[in-house]
Amino acid sequence: RKFGYAVVGLGKYAINQILPAFAECQHARLTALVSGDATKARRIGKQYGISESNLYSYSDFDKIAQNPDVDAVYIILPNALHADFAVRAFRAGKHVMCEKPMATSVEDCQRMIDAGKRANKELMIGYRCHFDPITNKAISLARSGAIGKPQIITTDNNDLGADTTDPTTHWRLTRALSGGGSLMDLGIYGVNGSRYMMNDDPIEVRAMIAPNSSPVFSQVEDIITWQFRYRSGGIAHGSSSFTTYSTTRFCLQGDKGTLLMDPATSYWSNRVSLCKSGDIETWSTPMFTIDALNQFSAQLDHLPISIAKGTRVLATGEEGMQDVRLLQSIYKAAHTGRAVATDWSDWRKTI
Ligand code: NAD
Repeated sequence: RKFGYAVVGLGKYAINQILPAFAECQHARLTALVSGDATKARRIGKQYGISESNLYSYSDFDKIAQNPDVDAVYIILPNALHADFAVRAFRAGKHVMCEKPMATSVEDCQRMIDAGKRANKELMIGYRCHFDPITNKAISLARSGAIGKPQIITTDNNDLGADTTDPTTHWRLTRALSGGGSLMDLGIYGVNGSRYMMNDDPIEVRAMIAPNSSPVFSQVEDIITWQFRYRSGGIAHGSSSFTTYSTTRFCLQGDKGTLLMDPATSYWSNRVSLCKSGDIETWSTPMFTIDALNQFSAQLDHLPISIAKGTRVLATGEEGMQDVRLLQSIYKAAHTGRAVATDWSDWRKTI
């Protein structure tokens, strides 16, 4: 029997990326939908062969506890709603897959981790890039010494017009629902990416937010940049914005070469180039025929595979919380104009 997911929230990411990805899953299937819009849930349920008895609203969601078709709940809601739904899902005795950013505060992240432990269920964060063959190729090149010692990483994640057209209503622009602007939505890829590309966690953060007088950005930031300092002497520089041309680019520089990922964190067409003494070697997705499974399906399959093997998932709650701690530190550094220490007593050892 395939592992059953209930998807909570039928917005753009759920409808366009996650629901279609179940078709390519080998271990997972879609078994239930949870939505605030019953008509939409029925329409999409019909499309994916979900019976009416497996459609839930946000208020009757807790009844999912009695549904044996559902092994895990996949939360694809506005960021500030992740924590409560995760806690409810754990209370219902289900595993949880939760979209990034894990939550909008460190306290909420801890609440989610604690609820998972109490329920003895797995918590995984939807870091799809961890299942992208190009990302994994880049990580293995970096770890193999192909560019020597990684010393500088630059990450830029911008999305022009990322839902910024309706400033009065869109949750991404409403602090209470998003927890912040482009950093929470896009910059998180660079924060997480700097950590996996440098294979290290920063010990200090500095940051700057560009002033923006547009009413669209009255609650959350548009352009933000940050720097991480690593114990190794390495530096990361990151940027994110909602108003510059859509980019997802990482550049990792070592003493023997450079790894350029452009795009670095896209849905389909990521590419990595190794640049060394005038030579450029490039890998792109179509070359990875053995890894033909797309990153979304691979991510969905990873949770049941880990549960069956009894191994920890790749993107744990602790991993998601580390990023949220760094996101909060970036905001603190930007608002105070001061460096913020981020050396949290070897958090990896707590996993
Ligand atoms: P969206 O606005 O398209 O969808 C959000 C859904 O939540 C909608 O169906 C909306 O009706 C529902 N919702 C429930 N309560 C709501 C409330 N109080 N206010 C507003 N909407 C409410 O957003 P999205 O792009 O699908 O993003 C959802 C989550 O997925 C976010 O956490 C986002 O960061 C994440 N996401 C991840 C990726 C990725 O590549 N991993 C990509 C896009 C989005």
